[in-house]
Amino acid sequence: MMEDKIAIIAELSRGGFTRATHEVISFARELGSACAHSEIIIIPGKNIRGLAEEIARTSGIDVIGIEAETLDLYSAEPFKSAILDVLKDINPAYVCLPHSAMGFDLAPGIAVDLGAACITAVEEIHEDKKRICFSKSMWGGKIRAELVSMTQRAVLTVLPGAWTASVEEAFIAGSVRMVKANLALGASEITLMEAPGERESELPGADVIVSAGRGIGKEENLEMIRKLAGIFSRGAVGASRSVCDLGWLGHKHQIGFTGKTVSPGLYIACGISGAIQHISGMKDSQMVIAINIDPHAPIFNIADYCIVEDLTEFIPALLELVEISR
Ligand SMILES: Cc1cc2nc3c(=O)[nH]c(=O)nc-3n(C[C@H](O)[C@H](O)[C@H](O)COP(=O)(O)OP(=O)(O)OC[C@H]3O[C@@H](n4cnc5c(N)ncnc54)[C@H](O)[C@@H]3O)c2cc1C
Repeated sequence: MMEDKIAIIAELSRGGFTRATHEVISFARELGSACAHSEIIIIPGKNIRGLAEEIARTSGIDVIGIEAETLDLYSAEPFKSAILDVLKDINPAYVCLPHSAMGFDLAPGIAVDLGAACITAVEEIHEDKKRICFSKSMWGGKIRAELVSMTQRAVLTVLPGAWTASVEEAFIAGSVRMVKANLALGASEITLMEAPGERESELPGADVIVSAGRGIGKEENLEMIRKLAGIFSRGAVGASRSVCDLGWLGHKHQIGFTGKTVSPGLYIACGISGAIQHISGMKDSQMVIAINIDPHAPIFNIADYCIVEDLTEFIPALLELVEISR
């Protein structure tokens, strides 16, 4: 029989829980109150007793820690097999993971094994005719889709930034159970995982950030973004992840969930669609101006001033005006 449980698969990085894990806890609490299920946190890793006790104490949720040498660094095969052993034991109605590199690697495999639906990148939930609907964005935020699970069980990945990280301190600590997973090495093995070191960036101290998105079209157009930022005495250039992934700017310029969080006096978004992962890093800016050719771009939902223009025409014209008035 299926238990009334919501399993949260925790993700670790640099010896602690990722922010996305705390967001999944908030999501699971909301889901739990909608369907009257209780949460349980599953932590796969190496030497994780301390972390298991810490999260059981702060969240008040029961925790199962899965210990194994091979769970030191993330790798799909041992993680999936260790998690499935525990899931088959607790038989949850929902399994929730962050929509991170680990989460969207693991979720489909877990779903197939459990015979469960797999709904990814969930942004909102609501009840409709006693069913729980999961909403997600598609086509760069232009379309919102609502999905319901047609199976008894569902595996869900939660979009980073869609829920606020849980910071509640529980009155009563959850229980902690540690299990040992005896796993042979899988067909592949991670031999090295390296994070780029922290580099100096002018972003944190900037009053004005002019950010470039994929809509700038080509690397050469960064010149106008730099010129626009240069108008301000404490101006800096930021970027969406697309621009950094394209190699047009280094990742130290990236703003968003997996980049920097900024809150300047003025944020000028140039050719940025406004994906939730970008918004989560700049939503506390005091004023937002967005320049986008698409009047329906999601960035306009949070902008104070919306400029529907081709930036390759608008920014040079603006720079010319500034030059004349100097
Ligand atoms: C786990 C995860 C973490 C992520 N973390 C981050 C993160 O930290 N930061 C981040 O930014 N993204 C992040 N992303 C990626 C994010 O989902 C988006 O894909 C990304 O932000 C889109 O970048 P963009 O807006 O530059 O590009 P696009 O979505 O391609 O948008 C380009 C925009 O430019 C406009 N445009 C095109 N031509 C012009 C023109 N001539 N003039 C004006 N406008 C024009 C278009 O209308 C469009 O709105 C993450 C994704 C995942 C799954």
